This record gives sequence, C-alpha cells and structure tokens, in this order.
Amino acid sequence: MGSRIPPVKGTRDVLPLDIYKDSDEPWLRIGHYQLIESAARTTFPLYGYREARTPILERTELFARGIGEATDIVGKEMYTFDDGAEGKSVSISMRPENTASLVRAYVQHNVQQSEPETKWWYLGPMFRRERQQKGRYRQFTQIGVEAFGSQGPRIDVEQIEMLHRWLTALGIPFAMHLNTLGDGETRPRWKAALQDYLRAHQAELTADSVARIETNPIRVLDSKFDKPEILEGAPRIDAFLSDAARAHFDGVKEGLTRLGVPFVVDPRLVRGLDYYTRTTFEAIATEGLGAQSTVAGGGRYDGLVKQLGGGDVAGVGFAAGVERLALLCAAAGREASSRPVLFIAPLGEAEEKKADELAQSLRAAGLGVEVSLRRANVGNMMKRADALSARFALVLGGDEITSGRAKLKELKTGAQHEVSLTDLVAALGQLS
Ligand code: ATP
Ligand code: MG
Repeated sequence: MGSRIPPVKGTRDVLPLDIYKDSDEPWLRIGHYQLIESAARTTFPLYGYREARTPILERTELFARGIGEATDIVGKEMYTFDDGAEGKSVSISMRPENTASLVRAYVQHNVQQSEPETKWWYLGPMFRRERQQKGRYRQFTQIGVEAFGSQGPRIDVEQIEMLHRWLTALGIPFAMHLNTLGDGETRPRWKAALQDYLRAHQAELTADSVARIETNPIRVLDSKFDKPEILEGAPRIDAFLSDAARAHFDGVKEGLTRLGVPFVVDPRLVRGLDYYTRTTFEAIATEGLGAQSTVAGGGRYDGLVKQLGGGDVAGVGFAAGVERLALLCAAAGREASSRPVLFIAPLGEAEEKKADELAQSLRAAGLGVEVSLRRANVGNMMKRADALSARFALVLGGDEITSGRAKLKELKTGAQHEVSLTDLVAALGQLS
C-alpha cells in the first residue's frame, strides 16, 4: 500500500464539495471561483476587453526587466529553474503575475501595428514563494486587464469604473483608493527628497526599509512594519508633480466624480512593482480579510512596453486576487451553483431503463437531470436528491410506468404536481 502524498504548501484543491470544515478560514469551493469568473466574463466585454492567454513559463529575464530586480517578487519569490533543453541553458520562471507576459505578447505579435488601442483581460494561476497566510498563497489566481495605447485619463477612469462595477456586482464591501506616482519629470525629484528624508531617519527604520533607501525608496512608504508617524512625515509627491502629471491626476479624479465612482485619495498607495507611473489604484476590502485586504491593484505603466522592446505605448491595467474575492463571497454565502432541475428515483430494473430514457430526452432539451444509479430504497434516494440540491424529484415505480403519470415533488416546499411522463419537458418548463 502506498502512503498519502500531501499537496505542496501554499497550494489548494478547489472542489465542488465543502471539505476542511474544521479549518479556520472558509473553505473555497469551485462555485465561489465560478461566480467571480463569470461576473468578469460578462462585465469586461461590456467595455471592449477581450480575453488573452499566455504561458505560465517565461524566460526569467522578462520578469527581471519587466517587474524589476529590486522588487520582492523578482528578488525572492519566483519559482525559477534552469531549462537545459537543446544543449543551451535558459533560466525559466513560473509567472508571478501576468502583465509582463501580456506586454511580451503584445510586442512579439506587433499588436501596436494592427490595433493602436487594445484592451485585453486574463485569468489564471500565478506563483510566488511567499509565507502562507489567510489570503496569501504560493499558487493563487488572478483576473486582470490591460489597456494599451491610450494616453489620457479617460481610459484610467473607464477601467476603474469597470473594476467598481465588477466588485459591486459580486457584493464585495470595498473602498477604491487612488494615488499618482507622477511621471519621469516628477519621480527623480521626489525620489531624491524621499531619500534625504529617509536617510535622516535611518536609525528609526527597520533594516528592510534602510536597505530600500538606495534601491527603491518609494517602496518604504508601503511598509507595514515601520512607525506610521515616520512614514506620514515623508515628503509627499504632491509638491513635486509636474504640470502634466498633475493635469492627468486631476483628469482621473474629475472623471470618476462625474461618473459617480466613489474613491479616496491615498498618498501612501505606492504599489510593489517598479513599472507603475502616474495613476495607481487599489480596491481594499473594508471587512473580512484582515491583513491581506487588497483585493485588486493596478495603475499606469507607460514605460513598460518600450522597456520590453516595443514602441512608446502607454498602458494601464489592474489585477485582482481571486482567492481573496472568493473568501469574501464564501463568507457572504454567495456562489455559482449547477444544481439539477430533476432527480429521478427508479424503483426496479424496468424503471431504471425508463428513467435513463426520460433523462436523455430532458437533457437533450437542455435540462439538468440526475438519475439514481444505485438501487436503494426511496428514502436514501431522496437523501441523495437533497444533497444534490435538485429542484424536483420524481419517483418512478411500476404504477407510474403503467399509467404514464407521476408526481413531481418540489424538494424545498414539498409541493406535489401530477404530470404526464410524455410531456415532462413542458411540465418542468412551466413549473420552473
Ligand atoms: P500584497 O501587498 O497583498 O502582497 P501585491 O502588491 O503583491 O499584494 P499584486 O502583485 O499587485 O499584489 O497583485 C494583485 C492582487 O493579487 C493583490 O491585490 C492580491 O489580491 C492578489 N495577490 C497577490 N499576491 C497574492 C498571493 N500570494 N496569494 C493570493 N493573492 C495574491
Ligand atoms: Mg505581495
């Protein structure tokens, strides 16, 4: 006999069943994921976004150049290995996020030529070697969007409004936080002022933050471990914004206000990736997630396409964490379900044959039907119908076959409806 092989730490199985009932967080079922995914599938195309899929495996240099060597993701969280195939050594990583890959595909296929303005959305697993916590896993799922080729603030506004619509449709309690990181003219001046300030406060900062003063000082503002009063006292970008960056930010705020999308300006919102410029935003859950409360984050990355070998193309996008959204849906008891309309309980061999034929014709008419495949007493078969959350159940015995009539029982109410077996489709159509 073999021993059980445990799953990899930080990964999870997503099943139709409720298991792990003793776990300290709500267990996520496939129905929670499906609810979130289908809301994305219906919402994003309303705004012209089309789905794109890229590989999980990419060359490590894509993320090193795209996300930045100094980031936590590239510096310590990637699953990287050497792919020695074809005699050459190539460093490969499992994607920790999808933006860099989509930009690679955009550049690779010259999309800029055929489509000056492009909107893509994606869904799939991402991989980061992080410490597992509630809402933080090593394999997790992101749904995100990217819009290439639009410079002005209207696309930022449209995308944030779309994120707002999607999360609202899911019933997520959240607040939209908004900030600007300025542009190429703003950043060096702000960065220098920030470095001066942080150097002056070195003694009071954590070692991580001290190390970041030279490499990535803006990230220090995002620290969860430093004294808030020191972070609050840091020079604000506002004083350094170029006229163009300020006009863009004003345009975003004005547009959101005009379209009635609520937001809060949050000067400490800086985001972890190097590629962001100008607008940044995060949807933060206002209850239910503890420390891992950011359900979606995004912003502008106007330099990224060029940095990855393409033209001077503007970009703006966001990525949402599906597991975090799913935890909120689970806590609220919301999920997609695929319950059968009818459960048929045949009492003997002849009845089983008749049940299979009835099921076949109902399924051909698009109705979900389960037939009891196990010969059991009526009570046990009805338990199974309940477990499947079937809408109706029908017991098929000798009398029903002889008379051609049977009773449809509505499981929730117990109400019975006598129907003819020859027009079950019509009967179920009328009742449901
Ligand atoms: P955090 O600050 O929570 O680590 P991040 O800035 O690293 O987030 P992004 O890279 O912007 O996150 O990813 C966007 C979203 O993806 C996050 O807001 C979150 O919802 C989700 N996400 C990121 N990392 C994980 C993870 N390890 N497990 C589950 N979800 C994640
Ligand atoms: Mg992170």
